[in-house]
Amino acid sequence: MNCFLPIAKESHFPIQNLPFGVFSRGNDKQRHVGVAISDMVLDLTLLERHGVLGITGRTADEMLFQQSSLNPFMAAGRPTWQSVRQRVTNLLADDEHGLRDKPIAEQVLVKQSGVSMHLPAEIGDYTDFYSSREHATNIGTMFRGKENALMPNWLHLPVGYHGRSSSIIVSGTPVRRPVGQVKPDDADPVVSPSRLLDIELEMGFFVGPGNRLGEPIGIEAADDHIFGMVLVNDWSARDIQKWEYVPLGPFLGKNFATTVSPWVVTLDALAPFRVDGPSQDPTPVDYLHSPGLRMYDIELGVDLRPAGNAHYETIIQSNSRHLYWDIRQQLAHHTVNGCNARPGDLMASGTISGPEPISFGSLLERTWRGTQPLQFTGGIERKFLADGDSVRLTGIARGDDYLVGFGEAEGTILPA
Ligand code: CA
Repeated sequence: MNCFLPIAKESHFPIQNLPFGVFSRGNDKQRHVGVAISDMVLDLTLLERHGVLGITGRTADEMLFQQSSLNPFMAAGRPTWQSVRQRVTNLLADDEHGLRDKPIAEQVLVKQSGVSMHLPAEIGDYTDFYSSREHATNIGTMFRGKENALMPNWLHLPVGYHGRSSSIIVSGTPVRRPVGQVKPDDADPVVSPSRLLDIELEMGFFVGPGNRLGEPIGIEAADDHIFGMVLVNDWSARDIQKWEYVPLGPFLGKNFATTVSPWVVTLDALAPFRVDGPSQDPTPVDYLHSPGLRMYDIELGVDLRPAGNAHYETIIQSNSRHLYWDIRQQLAHHTVNGCNARPGDLMASGTISGPEPISFGSLLERTWRGTQPLQFTGGIERKFLADGDSVRLTGIARGDDYLVGFGEAEGTILPA
């Protein structure tokens, strides 16, 4: 399928991708829903208003794109997602049925460089898993030794915790260094700006239709409840985390900021990139039985630009296929007790680390607790993040002659 717009070979947003996001134009406060195509945004809010989207089976008062978030569309379910995806594909096709040469094209196609991106959804709840075996092993080895690296539950269920949705921010939003209680080794706790500010390379998925309280989502139905995926940087203050986390787990060391990429890539766009996951031994219990190609081959990168430097340098190269627990297992596990997921909820994978040091998804692992600092141009060293540092996450799946990309999740550290 050819698009009538020119699409560069390295573009994250060819016609095979069509990710959804929320944007506003110039100084306009109105938020619209759009689809990224090449270096443009296709305005679905206007198309729907002009009656051009023509989504079958929906009446005029069942509008999907007239709110400032993707929640109504996420709630509408897979048949509607697929019908809109097909309609958008047809509108962008290089033939006489699409928008090519039509007067309305000028209104509904805008340059990405001229818009601001916003959070794609009103996120009611945010859950963060801990689904990378290499990450859990690295952290366990650092804190408990190699023999006890994985806790006894880890291979039996996807460990997770409830995060905070209010501090989830869209790419480009600065992150203020958190202040909190930290405990020096041989002294009383003090209140201090975090000195061990870190990143976590993760991916997250948005929930589509939810489930009723008390009614679990079976793993075989999970795909119908997952709208799409984004990049997630779950910023972490390791010194605050270390002192506070016993016995209830992560709290203020985690909930000051979580950055997501603005474009939600659908499972339909990712379908060609499904791959085998690592074999699971012991075999998971029935409700976590996940047959077939359960992972996605998405190349993940982290670039860091030290304060004062002009350019980003790559510090991490990983892949989402390294995960041990997949997104269907995560959702089935989350709801097995009857907990209700709702449209727009965000569930993140936990830090994604691979087998090699270059693929370790946090600075804590990458510098091995700061013992092996990273080197940058100009003789600059980093163990953890300094004020003014910028960090950028990227993700791409590689087709034969196209990419399905996630854009980026970027943030710069402001002083405490
Ligand atoms: Ca995390």
